[in-house]
Amino acid sequence: MYDLIVIGGGPAGLAAACAAWEKGLKHILIVERDKELGGILNQCIHNGFGLHYFKEELTGPEYAGRFIKMLEDTGVEVRLDTMVLTVTENRQVHMVGKDTGYRIEEAKAIILAMGCRERTRGAIAIPGQRPAGVFTAGAAQRYVNMEGWLPGRRVVILGSGDIGLIMARRMTLEGAKVLACVEVMPYSGGLNRNIVQCLHDYDIPLYLSHTVTDIRGRDRVEQVVVSQVDERRQPIPGTEMIFDCDTLLLSVGLIPENELTRQAGIAIDPRTNGAVVYENMETSLPGVFACGNVAHVHDLVDFVTAESQRAGAAAADYVLGSAPSDPAALEVHTGDGVTYTVPQHIRPNRVAKNCDLFFRVNRICGDSQILVKSGDTLIARFPRDHLAPGEMEHIVLPKVLLERASEAITVSIQEVESK
Ligand SMILES: Cc1cc2nc3c(=O)[nH]c(=O)nc-3n(C[C@H](O)[C@H](O)[C@H](O)COP(=O)(O)OP(=O)(O)OC[C@H]3O[C@@H](n4cnc5c(N)ncnc54)[C@H](O)[C@@H]3O)c2cc1C
Repeated sequence: MYDLIVIGGGPAGLAAACAAWEKGLKHILIVERDKELGGILNQCIHNGFGLHYFKEELTGPEYAGRFIKMLEDTGVEVRLDTMVLTVTENRQVHMVGKDTGYRIEEAKAIILAMGCRERTRGAIAIPGQRPAGVFTAGAAQRYVNMEGWLPGRRVVILGSGDIGLIMARRMTLEGAKVLACVEVMPYSGGLNRNIVQCLHDYDIPLYLSHTVTDIRGRDRVEQVVVSQVDERRQPIPGTEMIFDCDTLLLSVGLIPENELTRQAGIAIDPRTNGAVVYENMETSLPGVFACGNVAHVHDLVDFVTAESQRAGAAAADYVLGSAPSDPAALEVHTGDGVTYTVPQHIRPNRVAKNCDLFFRVNRICGDSQILVKSGDTLIARFPRDHLAPGEMEHIVLPKVLLERASEAITVSIQEVESK
């Protein structure tokens, strides 16, 4: 029996395993379906990783490499090329591996760190023909950066999330012509720095409040039709623009990879599509924790690392029996302007000093206050001069405040009216 099994060897799984080892667990297994550790970072060869955590600008593989090196200095066991098929309520992990065959391993605690996957054409139901040349941006990133293939030469990108923006630059650097980046919302879903560095610097136009309304081509994409949308995101007839292109890249959202979580009967939050978690990333199934993109989609890997270290340390506390008892929990509700929060429940007596709370807003806001209330009582406020749905927000709630809260906590946004 393992002390801890970590499912997924991306940055979340690596950080969680290292933290659990440091806290005293000695019998840890990481199970990774790929041939190497590092997760999605292996294909993210651009820089910009690690600014918060290492205070350095690293590429994705460099960032992952730092944690793989840390892991090598531990006795954590790694099983590559091994896919976890099922997790049961009594913490059995069913897996199938190239060298090991079908195995069932048991653990005192489990960390779910399976990352996320991309939404595809089918998920957003784009009309038109079904030719070759429609890729998710992540698949194209893998072709270009890891397998040495250029997926196309004249490209339209749908969605202005970070992966789409990064791929606009990447395809341009590899000699393709990126004709447009098209975004259905009236604002970009990506980080501001990526809009500047990946679109503006290469004169790639960004069409906000537009979407793809037709894909044309028999064998290969030949044209993409883009239309403006109204405030209900419905295409406006007469606004069509036709782009002659051979490739459409989709960057239209990420979905946490939660089949194992669901199967295990763990409560899922429909807003994050990840497990409902407590302040230490424990799920509704005691001893099972979730962290990284499987819990909620992150913009920056640095936050994945910090969150996963908390999950790893908490899993160690669980196994070593050092977690405090009396887990009375406060629910965290979303108020005006807030789409979701992680965690969804906080047990004040399990908070060491501060509780990190992450959330996203549902609209662009200027000068604003983040209000945290318990019932009708305001317990904290945080000023921000800008909030955007594409940028995950983070606030820190001190334990003393949480201990004073007698009712559920609500996080909301109040925009400061300009005079
Ligand atoms: C295409 C793409 C590009 C991105 N680019 C950037 C970027 O430029 N900058 C940035 O900061 N962030 C980027 N991100 C966000 C990035 O995903 C996170 O920062 C971080 O990598 C998430 O870490 P993770 O460990 O949660 O997930 P991942 O890195 O996805 O790792 C999850 C791991 O779990 C494994 N796994 C899944 N299911 C199973 C199973 N059943 N059995 C065994 N193993 C399993 C997967 O193979 C994978 O290795 C990108 C994300 C995607 C999808």
